[in-house]
Amino acid sequence: MTTEPLFFKPVFKERIWGGAALADFGYHIPSVRTGECWAFAAHKNGQSVVQNGMYKGFTLCELWEHHRYLFGQLEGDCFPLLTKILDADQDLSVQVHPNDEFAKIHENGELGKTECWYIIDCEKDAEIIYGHNAKTKEELISMIELGEWDELLRRVKVKPGDFFYVPSGTVHAIGKGILVLETQQNSDTTYRLYDYERKNAEGNMRELHLEKSLEVIEVPSISDRHTIQYEQTDDLLTTTFVECAYFTVEKWRLTGAATLKQQKPFLLVSVIEGEGRMISGVNTNTFKKGDHMLLPYGFGVFKLEGRAECIVSHL
Ligand code: ZN
Repeated sequence: MTTEPLFFKPVFKERIWGGAALADFGYHIPSVRTGECWAFAAHKNGQSVVQNGMYKGFTLCELWEHHRYLFGQLEGDCFPLLTKILDADQDLSVQVHPNDEFAKIHENGELGKTECWYIIDCEKDAEIIYGHNAKTKEELISMIELGEWDELLRRVKVKPGDFFYVPSGTVHAIGKGILVLETQQNSDTTYRLYDYERKNAEGNMRELHLEKSLEVIEVPSISDRHTIQYEQTDDLLTTTFVECAYFTVEKWRLTGAATLKQQKPFLLVSVIEGEGRMISGVNTNTFKKGDHMLLPYGFGVFKLEGRAECIVSHL
């Protein structure tokens, strides 16, 4: 049992749509086209590593494989969640993800992908694509064949603090000028439906996956009906955005001091604003914007002090 939070060092991914905003979190980003920070990542395409304490140097995968007690002996082949921060300097392509059943059959046993977004920051009038307007599969196919993308795709204006639940089968895209924290199933299975007919420097368009997209898109589009709940504990306001089969995601807003108890198999805490201290057992750790802490199973009672905002997830 450990009462020390595990701080994870993220992995950065350069993307053609990325920018430089992730530097504002205190990260040494590889370039001004840095699109993704993989904060809690135990995937073959990216692994974050513990940077403190007795587990220093271990990847999240290794902890899951060999130190399963840190996660309350949860079952499963791989760590279930993936947390990213994305900086979209350009529009991302329009995509859709399969569910677990489809991915298992068609993607070599990969998991499906249900995800959700917390908008950390955005430009004025920034938009996402969230769902579509076709009422039947036939209409969906016909609108795509005719290239009626403006009519088909639902655009939604966003502002900082907004939250969007994106279950598998939802057509979606993050628009330019948006900084988002994404919590998702641990999967990288994406079908690209539309890329605005963009060409790269060599004059090529990125590959689309129309057939598979059409198989997995939910028709009609599911609307977002998550109910938000609030709970105040001392000087900490917890906003629960979503509780689904794959994850629960909440925001902690700390404005002083609060005593809490970690009662889950694990908690993933990403600090998106401010700073503070965490006192747990004999340990005192400071944290600041850009830190990502895993509080393992049996972490017990802990105290938070400071002014900070965190996005927190658990099963
Ligand atoms: Zn996605």
